Amino acid sequence: MRFPVSIVGAGTAGLITARRLGELGFSPRVYDQKRVLGVPVRASGILSLSGIARLGINYSGCETNRLHGAKIYAGKSVLKVKSKAAIAVVLDRKRLNDACYDQAKAAGAEVITEKRLAGHSLEGMAGRGVLVGADGAVSSVARHFGFGEISRFAVTYKAEYEVEAAESGMVELFFDNRNYPGLFGWTCPNRKDLLEVGVGLYSGNGNARAAFDKLIKTEQIASVIGNRRPVNHGASIIPMRMRKSIVDERRRIMLVGDAAGQVKATTGGGIIFGGSAALMAAEAIARNADSGAPLSNYESEFRGAYGLDLDMHYMINKVYSSMGTKSMEKVVSVMKTLGLDRFLSAYGDMDRPSLILKRFFLRGLAR
Ligand SMILES: Cc1cc2nc3c(=O)[nH]c(=O)nc-3n(C[C@H](O)[C@H](O)[C@H](O)COP(=O)(O)OP(=O)(O)OC[C@H]3O[C@@H](n4cnc5c(N)ncnc54)[C@H](O)[C@@H]3O)c2cc1C
Repeated sequence: MRFPVSIVGAGTAGLITARRLGELGFSPRVYDQKRVLGVPVRASGILSLSGIARLGINYSGCETNRLHGAKIYAGKSVLKVKSKAAIAVVLDRKRLNDACYDQAKAAGAEVITEKRLAGHSLEGMAGRGVLVGADGAVSSVARHFGFGEISRFAVTYKAEYEVEAAESGMVELFFDNRNYPGLFGWTCPNRKDLLEVGVGLYSGNGNARAAFDKLIKTEQIASVIGNRRPVNHGASIIPMRMRKSIVDERRRIMLVGDAAGQVKATTGGGIIFGGSAALMAAEAIARNADSGAPLSNYESEFRGAYGLDLDMHYMINKVYSSMGTKSMEKVVSVMKTLGLDRFLSAYGDMDRPSLILKRFFLRGLAR
């Protein structure tokens, strides 16, 4: 039996859920408040190659660069982690959303734009089949149906600059808890001639725009962008912690993506975890239709597969956000002494710190 599924939000998480449901024989309906999906672009598109491969997105037309690693600045210390092979892609976010849309439509989903759902219109949908909240960090679905709060957010500001040549293949991360408390400043060569510069900090700990203005004055960045004007710029928010509960079995409501808080607290990356959750949610809905298996299997399966990694990202973030500049410099120098920069260059995994730890111990045991 296939029942109606309504999805609120046509970002990557909602569209991946819709695509997978279509492949499983459903005819899902996706609603989005926007007229043109995927704009304005306020986020970056850095995704691990291993992660994006799992999502089944046809992203070949979205790729703008490949990344080999990161240069990390902490006070006067610099740590370079660089692998021979590319570990991540940079994707054009509008084109990525379009690719997810095309695949969802091809699988049989209906996408309805300029339709904001809140309050009574959500009530009407819950109870008929399944309602999926994929409506981003400030989820109306979560709020309306009383899912717990997301306990921490970051605020961000980013811009792109047309430059002669951005350092190709490496992101730069600037850790400084006085100026960017809780997260960091970054640059990313979105294309070889387009440099993204951004900053994120814990919400309630200052103004992202003011922090951004400080960041672009640092020597490393000022020397590349000079006094060029940004071509795209704007603010956004990132959830830093998963909600305590993401399924309401009785009312048949599920949350995926930023609405659920499925984001890495170290970097703010959410597409891989949100997309993986979207696939799991769709599979759980299909099993519910086939055999009556509980929808909450989605939550336990997601937490079983990725909960430890999300918790580790959160713990790492908590530790570095409590450090002063001198302590960060010390940590970087200890990491270098231990050869951790080389280890991360060879075995680092952007998404799954639990795998890094496992490889670290296995290497130790093998010695
Ligand atoms: C500055 C910044 C940089 C980032 N960089 C990366 C990165 O490099 N890599 C990465 O993986 N992630 C990154 N992220 C995170 C990533 O952008 C998000 O995790 C991802 O976009 C979440 O997708 P989503 O579909 O859950 O939500 P969204 O993309 O927010 O989509 C939600 C959709 O729901 C719609 N909507 C909301 N409310 C309603 C309503 N009531 N009714 C109808 N429609 C509604 C919205 O219009 C929107 O289209 C970054 C985020 C920021 C802010």
